[in-house]
Formats: sequence, structure tokens, C-alpha cells
Amino acid sequence: MDEQRIRERIRARLAAGQLRPNDGTFVVARTHSGPPCAACGRRIETADAAPYGHHYLDGEHHWFHFRCMLLWADERIQIVRIEEAGHGR
Ligand SMILES: [Zn+2]
Repeated sequence: MDEQRIRERIRARLAAGQLRPNDGTFVVARTHSGPPCAACGRRIETADAAPYGHHYLDGEHHWFHFRCMLLWADERIQIVRIEEAGHGR
């Protein structure tokens, strides 16, 4: 899956509320297999060097491939900036 498709999927999931642009608390690494990547939907293999988990304040969490986490971070910060610009007037 190429970067553009992953970004489109992340935007769709953000729009649907399946991923959230903010409210996160911290990011941790995982070393065992688990749920699929919240961005691209593919399995996170044990061989993937650094899968990352994002925990929300309400306890829910998502796991990402390292590359997908970077794309998600990039997409969500744009939404946060738009929201901040809207509230700043
Ligand atoms: Zn992924």
C-alpha cells in the first residue's frame, strides 16, 4: 500500500471518528503481535521494527506501523491546526 492510499485511509478514518486528531496521551513501542495497524489496516508483523501504540485519555488505544504512525501524526496535526485557527478568532 503506497503512502497516498494510507493517507487517504487515515483521513477517512479521522472523518469517521475511528481515529482522533487529538486527545492522545503517549506513544509506546510494542514487541509482540496484536491488532492490525489503525492506519493501513494491515497486520503488524513481529518483524516490523517498531510498532507504535497511541493511547487516548479514555483508555482506548490504536497500534500503528512506525511509518503509518508518522503519516497519521502528519495528517492529524493538520486537523488540529485547522481547529485552532477556527477557535482563534
Ligand atoms: Zn500500517
